[in-house]
Amino acid sequence: MTSFPGLVLRASCGGMGVFSVDGIQPGRNVMHFEGAILSRDAVKTAIAKNGHDGFLQIGIDTFMGQSGGLDDYVNHACNPNCYIAIQDYSVHLIALRHINRDEEITFDYATTQIDFPFRFDCVCGDVACRGNIGNVNEIPVTQLETYRRYGALPEYILEMTALV
Ligand SMILES: [Zn+2]
Repeated sequence: MTSFPGLVLRASCGGMGVFSVDGIQPGRNVMHFEGAILSRDAVKTAIAKNGHDGFLQIGIDTFMGQSGGLDDYVNHACNPNCYIAIQDYSVHLIALRHINRDEEITFDYATTQIDFPFRFDCVCGDVACRGNIGNVNEIPVTQLETYRRYGALPEYILEMTALV
């Protein structure tokens, strides 16, 4: 299991979450994600059998499974402090803004999701919480535009939205 200096697993409102120990500067590479590469069919079958198990969408029909490490515990937030950067099968979490010491590390799960085979109810508590979280097209246009400006949307998402 990969360890990530400066990050720690703690109880969070979403169960367990990953927290910054000392704070993180904007644009910094916070951590990377690891896991088996899975097809959409494999993920659909797994969800039907065992329920959702932390699959991360990394392409239109490509997903990453869990690693057993800290990266499995990064929670969603509707107003997140990180985003997912995807280059082929290399997946990193990048700080979208300054992250304070003891602040939970989050990203917006919907930013990587197109026709994602699972939805969940968000408990992030932000004033702009979207409630039930699904796909990228459900993110408000102004927020999607902000993500695009920060380079926080994967290539396949840009290709599928009108924001290219
Ligand atoms: Zn929320």
